[in-house]
Amino acid sequence: MKYLIVLADGMADRPISDLMGRTPIEAADTPNMDYIAAHGVLGRLKTVPDGMVPESDTANLAVMGYDPLVYSRGRSPLEALSMGINMTSGQTAVRANLVCLSDFGEPYAQKTMIDHSSGEISTEEARILIEECASKLCPPGTSIHTGVSYRHCFIVDDAPEFNAFARPHDILGRCIEEYLPACGFYRDLMERSFELLNEHPVNKARAAKGLRKANSLWFWSPGKKPALPPFYEKTGLKATVVCAVDLIKGIGKCAGMETPFVPGATGGCVTDYSAKANAAIKAFESGSDLVYIHIEAPDECGHKGDVNAKIAAIENIDSKIIGALMDWFARKGENYRIAVLPDHPTPICLRTHAPEPVPFAVLTSDDRRRSGFERYSEKEAERSSLYIPVGSDFMSRFISGELESKRLL
Ligand SMILES: [Zn+2]
Repeated sequence: MKYLIVLADGMADRPISDLMGRTPIEAADTPNMDYIAAHGVLGRLKTVPDGMVPESDTANLAVMGYDPLVYSRGRSPLEALSMGINMTSGQTAVRANLVCLSDFGEPYAQKTMIDHSSGEISTEEARILIEECASKLCPPGTSIHTGVSYRHCFIVDDAPEFNAFARPHDILGRCIEEYLPACGFYRDLMERSFELLNEHPVNKARAAKGLRKANSLWFWSPGKKPALPPFYEKTGLKATVVCAVDLIKGIGKCAGMETPFVPGATGGCVTDYSAKANAAIKAFESGSDLVYIHIEAPDECGHKGDVNAKIAAIENIDSKIIGALMDWFARKGENYRIAVLPDHPTPICLRTHAPEPVPFAVLTSDDRRRSGFERYSEKEAERSSLYIPVGSDFMSRFISGELESKRLL
């Protein structure tokens, strides 16, 4: 048996009036997700424990079988691990976004958060800007490291207290004043980064092309070095994470999974879906029992409020990843179990994450029966009596095949 989890970040949504009350999943043409829901099991999963913020690190930890209440140490230490940074236990990793702030000559605190991703800046351009910060901005006892696109990592030896922070994707279009870190150490570095980056040649060239400048660092989500029990020891399965973003790769690395580099996978709205399917096939062929494919695109489209792009991303996941892999399994004559789910909703109307339970569908190739559901959607899943209230229970129940016994309306 091979196990495949297709995790579509932020895919779930709420009804949208422009879509005649449908969600992007309902508006998208998704024959493969629908087939899985109609011939397998459909249910809902609470991926974010009460009292925790619905972030991708929390939710993906849960889906991978690790209780975030026990294991979550913030996202940045996981990203640091994926970037190959060897943290000591005394160090703190802080997420450093390259963000786009308004640029009308107003004082720093009066600026508006235009874009948490700086127009999904390329990693090549970002690297130049981050290296500029490394050489001209970082005080002794700190270092800054280039990640993917707008997502970077700031390491601090003896970090000052940094409890209250704002997630830049949560404050799009708002004045940053009330969201700046209370801690002067971080606030001053952010302000000085604007002076360093706003007129940098990379940003001048971006502005000339009509692209958004990456004109400030934004610090958030600090955390210490994480530790997870190895996935193989928990499950007896060799696992691979196929993903572009360092956060999810970091969870995989921390859990002892393979985390191959996937060329063409961007962690943005436009990504190479087929390259991810091929990377999953390669992982299965080289001995992996379980592959966890994570696709960031629907989440990024949700943050942008771009409903058409979100629908297109969902359709691409359906055909180029789920469909392609189900075809491959069929050609190989391989038994498999597949799960499709988001980590959390990223509703277009909110442009940020929401905490409500997510719909999941699971199909086992040699146990196909009509489930009574026609489609994979939020609404259909709400009709199901199958509800898993603790997200980190999902993985063991998926692997054991126990969910199929709950094939009830
Ligand atoms: Zn997100």
